[in-house]
Amino acid sequence: MIDPIEPPLVGADNPEELNPLAIARQQFNRAREKLAGLKKGLIEFFEAPKRSVAVCFPVEMEDGSVRSFHGFRVLHSRVMGPGKGGIRYHRDVTAAEVAALAALMTWKCAIVKVPFGGAKGGVVCNPKELSETELRRITRRFVHELGDNIGPHTDIPAPDLYTNEQTMAWIFDTYEALHPGANSRPVVTGKPIDLGGSAGRRDATGLGAFLVTERFLELGLIPSMVSVAGATVAIQGYGQVAKAAAHAFRDAGAIIVALSDSQGGIYDPKGLDLMDVANYKQEHGTVVGLPETKTITNEDLLELECDILIPAALGNQIRQDNAGRIQAKLVIEAANAPVTPAADDILSARGIFVLPDILANAGGVTVSYFEWVQNIENEEWDLDDVNRRLKWRMRRAVDDVVECWRGFDLPTGLIPEIDDAEDPSALATSDIVDLRTAALVLAVRRVAQATLERGIWP
Ligand code: NAD
Repeated sequence: MIDPIEPPLVGADNPEELNPLAIARQQFNRAREKLAGLKKGLIEFFEAPKRSVAVCFPVEMEDGSVRSFHGFRVLHSRVMGPGKGGIRYHRDVTAAEVAALAALMTWKCAIVKVPFGGAKGGVVCNPKELSETELRRITRRFVHELGDNIGPHTDIPAPDLYTNEQTMAWIFDTYEALHPGANSRPVVTGKPIDLGGSAGRRDATGLGAFLVTERFLELGLIPSMVSVAGATVAIQGYGQVAKAAAHAFRDAGAIIVALSDSQGGIYDPKGLDLMDVANYKQEHGTVVGLPETKTITNEDLLELECDILIPAALGNQIRQDNAGRIQAKLVIEAANAPVTPAADDILSARGIFVLPDILANAGGVTVSYFEWVQNIENEEWDLDDVNRRLKWRMRRAVDDVVECWRGFDLPTGLIPEIDDAEDPSALATSDIVDLRTAALVLAVRRVAQATLERGIWP
């Protein structure tokens, strides 16, 4: 998992608000302005989480001492189905951050039409300082404290920062011990395959990012690029998501010109050989230094001349201070929140499309949903079946978001080509509806409609 303890690459004099909660609020407020027809009171209902649980529990450490840990689980909405969202282990976890991320999960699930609401959880701890035994004790005790606040039909956790398949296995095992005699596999997704994990889950987010790009280009909004074949692609990161995305784009004929990790990036305008990159990373622990490539910084990578830029590592990477130098025609948010609201405005005004995280990285939660379905049915789907279903959902989600976006009265000159825009920077940003805002509007409308169809209780 990524190292969130490292601060994001932000200039010391950068005046932008980079707090995830503040950013989520800004994004939601933009969508809110376009939701004027919504029944009064519904927006307020969506702004607050349905339920927030805070727990404190003691754990005996390896050295015999006892330490208290604080954990949170926030269920933002159950309108569309049980809550769904990761559990993170990190020293900076706060109730407010978890609440913001839970709301984003509601909107992400609504966009890909998986029947879940949004949730998120976390334990305040520094996993780098904890042994495996201590992590297991924390996990088991946290699940015990949460009790029936999680469950196969109430709220279903998944991996997030510094939690993984092993953590999910402990969650499943603990929950099952507390609920003997029931099929508890669907209580958590992202499990090891042996315990009911799904084929394709590991690559689902990166593959999903490719599938949404492929569909978006087919729609012809960037006339000079109607397919990924032959497109040059720069990817920030070389983790689970970045690797899967790189392979999917390469297999479709794109040229991967750059990749990176926390130590820096590598660039070859003729295209990187992904097998060479994998072997080099395995041997040296970094991609930096791969022979016949140019070493670049992570900042340089973002500003490379390329057709498609995929930030797939950290948040807050494309900001007010560097958005003006992005040269790609299309940015795919494979990571969570790599583009700030100020950068959204700059990129929009320059005619550069951003496929937002709640669409572009929704492949992960989609295959998590498939895992849950397989667990409930005691079934096992093969990889082709999983990927076929993923493709269908991701493509439909793109079509729905673009249709919603087209429904707004867009200022002339904004879209579709950077070069064709007469003076894009002269446009008032408040006039611009970008794909992120359209995606949020679509998601909120869906959840609002379901709320009204169910009927406000009693
Ligand atoms: P990962 O830990 O597998 O990979 C993270 C990558 O980021 C690594 O290559 C790491 O070297 C790199 N990195 C770390 N610090 C860096 C720095 N300072 N500069 C540049 N690169 C740095 O994580 P992942 O699962 O691939 O997740 C990547 C992003 O995608 C995160 O934002 C995550 O929240 C998001 N995401 C992941 C999933 C999923 O299914 N894994 C789903 C949705 C969203």
